[in-house]
Amino acid sequence: MAAAVAAAQAGASVALIERAPYLGGAATHSNVLTYCGFWTQADPAVQIVRGVGDDVLREIEILGGDATPVRTASNVVIALLDPEIVKFALDRICERAGVDVLLHATLTDATLAGDRIASVAVYDHGGTGWISAHAFVDASGDADLAARSGAGVRYGGHDGAVQNGTLVVRFGGIEADADTSRTAWERAVRAAKARGLDALTKEHGLVIRIPGSNDVVAYLADEAYDVRDVRSHAAAERRGRRQAWQLLDAIRTLPGHAAAYIVTTGPAIGTRESRHVVAQRPLTEAEVVGGATFPDAVAVGGWPAEHHPGPGLPNRWIRIKDDGAYEIPLGTLHSATHANLFAAGRTLDADPYAFASLRVMGTAFATGQAAGVAAAQTARNGVTKAEHVRSELVRQGALIAAPQPERTLS
Ligand SMILES: Cc1cc2nc3c(=O)[nH]c(=O)nc-3n(C[C@H](O)[C@H](O)[C@H](O)COP(=O)(O)OP(=O)(O)OC[C@H]3O[C@@H](n4cnc5c(N)ncnc54)[C@H](O)[C@@H]3O)c2cc1C
Repeated sequence: MAAAVAAAQAGASVALIERAPYLGGAATHSNVLTYCGFWTQADPAVQIVRGVGDDVLREIEILGGDATPVRTASNVVIALLDPEIVKFALDRICERAGVDVLLHATLTDATLAGDRIASVAVYDHGGTGWISAHAFVDASGDADLAARSGAGVRYGGHDGAVQNGTLVVRFGGIEADADTSRTAWERAVRAAKARGLDALTKEHGLVIRIPGSNDVVAYLADEAYDVRDVRSHAAAERRGRRQAWQLLDAIRTLPGHAAAYIVTTGPAIGTRESRHVVAQRPLTEAEVVGGATFPDAVAVGGWPAEHHPGPGLPNRWIRIKDDGAYEIPLGTLHSATHANLFAAGRTLDADPYAFASLRVMGTAFATGQAAGVAAAQTARNGVTKAEHVRSELVRQGALIAAPQPERTLS
């Protein structure tokens, strides 16, 4: 969405192809109701994603949501989301930008002309149609466009390992003053496992109250699967739902939780990692954690590396130097094989711990906006240069330089 809006703001004619009935990706389709990456973790936190991402935060507030940063018990800074507000906010921003938003439209194939993508096949209930364009952004999460067009892709890290996915579950019926802390839920899950509930894979994870209701979302039903294998993916959804119902059993034993019920799972299991678009300039853990800067920076990240190695295994966190930020160069967004293909969000190329920071949604707005501008300029001129992408991003109000500590303090 950020790529589409930014490309339109840069003067391109843009189609956004989305298979779901709404925009928002994991926020609206997988119950991931916490925007991370918009701010550094310093105290006070500094906003490092502006431009389209900031427009989204403002639109959420116009619609009655609250996008102010919240520091969690784990000392990280997030914004809490109402998924219905997010859906409507994104509709309105795309409409204002003049983006042709095709919902219920699945990209299934692509054609090439030399080292450039020429057109993409889009399936909807009218059949399969083709859309031609001069440049493309793959923000599909799973790098479907790159894979279908024969661009360089890599599944997971260099050893093929991917972070686990999670079926996020939203629970209602919990009393307003009930203790919904991670530790209370962890006790309930451990007791349930001791009682013989055998589907639960994780005891300790994010459990958070959603604004505007007493509902709670829990990021506990971890699963390992391969999205490229439909049976593996489908089995993970079924196992995840089994976990959701066992979680309900578990939490009903807690004070104030007796009337708890499942409001929704997913709808889709949330996939943290699958394919990456092999890029001209992959990002490394040392660069992310060390707060690297680049002369060709086009976006800024500030979420700690948050790595989920697999169901039942503890997450590993590495904070960024001084709780600051790092820059992301244009080459990280540019396909190494296809001249008119740019990547954004969790399709980006990085080593495992760099990716564990890059993948969050605030940063995805920033990389999306940069990819959209780069694609629009490539569509117009055949090529683009970082200096041109950077100046258009600045014109659009995006932040392309990591705030330096001395500036943060002043
Ligand atoms: C369980 C879980 C918890 C997380 N927790 C957080 C968190 O608290 N905060 C945070 O900021 N991030 C979190 N993340 C990470 C974050 O949600 C993702 O990395 C982020 O959503 C990536 O954004 P994206 O736009 O690249 O991909 P996605 O959000 O996955 O969006 C991709 C979009 O492309 C569409 N699409 C895919 N393939 C096709 C196709 N072939 N044709 C048409 N449309 C297609 C999808 O329907 C989807 O709308 C979490 C992730 C998971 C799984």
